Amino acid sequence: MIPLRVLLIEDSRDDAALVVRELSRAGYAVTSERVDTPEALSLALKRHRWDIAIADYTMPAFNGAAALSLVREYDPDLAFIFVSGTIGEDAAVAAMQTGAQDYISKSNLTRLVPAVESQLRKAAGRLARAQADAELLKVAYRDALTDLPNRVLLHDRLRQAILAAQRARKSLALIVVDLDGLKAVSGSLGPEAADVVIRTLTTRLRALLREVDTVARLGADQFALMLPETGSAGAVRAARKVSQDLADPYTIEGQSFPVTGRLGIAVFPEHASHADELLQKAERAVPGAGSDGADYAVFVPAGDRDTKGRLGLVTELREGFERNQFSSDYQPIVHLETGRVLSVEALARWNHPSHGRLQPADFIELVEQTWLIEPLTIRLIDRALAEWAPRDGLPWVSVAVNLSLRSLRDPDLPDRIADVLRRHEAAPSALVLEITEHILRQDTPRALSCLSRLHGMGVTLAVDNFGRGESLAGHLRHLSINRLKIDRTLVNGATAGDDANLRSTIDLAHSLNMIVVAEGVESTATLDRLRELTCDAAQGYVIAKPAPAAETRRWVTHRNATRQA
Ligand code: C2E
Ligand code: CA
Ligand code: CA
Repeated sequence: MIPLRVLLIEDSRDDAALVVRELSRAGYAVTSERVDTPEALSLALKRHRWDIAIADYTMPAFNGAAALSLVREYDPDLAFIFVSGTIGEDAAVAAMQTGAQDYISKSNLTRLVPAVESQLRKAAGRLARAQADAELLKVAYRDALTDLPNRVLLHDRLRQAILAAQRARKSLALIVVDLDGLKAVSGSLGPEAADVVIRTLTTRLRALLREVDTVARLGADQFALMLPETGSAGAVRAARKVSQDLADPYTIEGQSFPVTGRLGIAVFPEHASHADELLQKAERAVPGAGSDGADYAVFVPAGDRDTKGRLGLVTELREGFERNQFSSDYQPIVHLETGRVLSVEALARWNHPSHGRLQPADFIELVEQTWLIEPLTIRLIDRALAEWAPRDGLPWVSVAVNLSLRSLRDPDLPDRIADVLRRHEAAPSALVLEITEHILRQDTPRALSCLSRLHGMGVTLAVDNFGRGESLAGHLRHLSINRLKIDRTLVNGATAGDDANLRSTIDLAHSLNMIVVAEGVESTATLDRLRELTCDAAQGYVIAKPAPAAETRRWVTHRNATRQA
């Protein structure tokens, strides 16, 4: 027996019973309900799902055409047949024109079953097509992995939401989230693992936000959050919540992977008046995130952010990079006991076409605020390895390059550095990376995972400017660091009578098996004192000033020769 749910729109009980009997005889297990008013019909349509509606054409309280249009309101595809005794040919034609699928005379019910069967078949076909269409729409509008709206659907929702916000005089915030760390997951555990992370992350995001908010996936590593009735302050609160939540590492197969995000925020109507613009501005705000330690940034109009001078300088920086105007001076770091050169530190210089040779103080902070810092760092590493490769009897001299915290946000940094090392056939230990002591206070999992990968590669890691700020000694033991560079304020601040701080810093570093380098040594008296305190190495004007590669190479060659002699 095939179950069949039949909605009978019929004033006569007897006629309704006749139809049910006919269908039952043909093998259907009929469930039916009879209605004969518009109200009852609406209720029946609302409450249950029907396979077919069979309607009389003329009823005292109702007529067939009205019944049909009511049915279509609820279900445009439900199979619908008129069964009537009194319908004339004209009315029958009219009925068919309103969209009934068939017409049967009560005097000839033998046609009922074949008609019902043919209608059910057609309805099934329509349903399948509708499902296929919906599936197609889904592909066009939704992300297959997460089922989240994609960029196209988000755009549509943004347009609608902006219209609504305009009418209600409310604001609307859009947050674009750029994720980092997924490559590391798929790199070590395969793309399926990354998919798991994305799905978990989607669930987490959804749970953090309100029902009215939309989470969309814009690209492999990019999501967007649309928050109706939210201004900048609310968006910042949401962004903070999201970035805190992201900071929880994902554990897959016992390994813990940090996934972090940079969030860009733009708000209607302050920053944009239509969907495209809002999305664009939120995306443009992303690179600003992270510069002040927060993982999010609100869009800042160009006129506010870039005073004319700064904007000009940024353009010049880019040109300078393209025209290869950046190079490094090198300053030796020498071993205090043997006098041999431990490393040379690369210090960036900008050979500016009209301002001459600029020092880092004039540009490095600005570079660190732009994406240029990453390619520039890589280029300086590349140059440094080229300039210090074995040549003219001088074997490898390890080079120390300064790394900005921002570069550490790039999960590809270790791979890029490995590439450069390979190109120069340099051992990883030929490279020292100096990172300011701020890294000790930062707990961005992304930066830390970058560091531990670099350490794992065999690159030497040094903490720079240690002791310049607040005491971070307690944080030292948590990182895999090979060298500690004591800031020159601490080195020069120590007098013969009061060097407890310097002494305890050296002892702490030694207890953690680090090599200690004193920076900014300007007098031989300080050098002597450092030797007494068993400081390992020193750097400073009293030893040698930073100088171009050729000059420093000559200095190193000479130094090594006299030490051997
Ligand atoms: P830093 O890493 O602490 O570098 C040491 C700075 O102290 C250098 O200044 C060096 O010239 C100076 N110095 C060396 N010996 C002495 C001394 O005896 N006395 C005094 N008073 N100063 C000494 P420079 O070259 O102007 O670099 C300044 C800062 O700029 C560096 O400080 C570093 O933080 C940053 N920097 C330089 N190159 C790069 C780079 O390629 N990337 C990044 N991210 N930062 C860089
Ligand atoms: Ca340094
Ligand atoms: Ca330093």
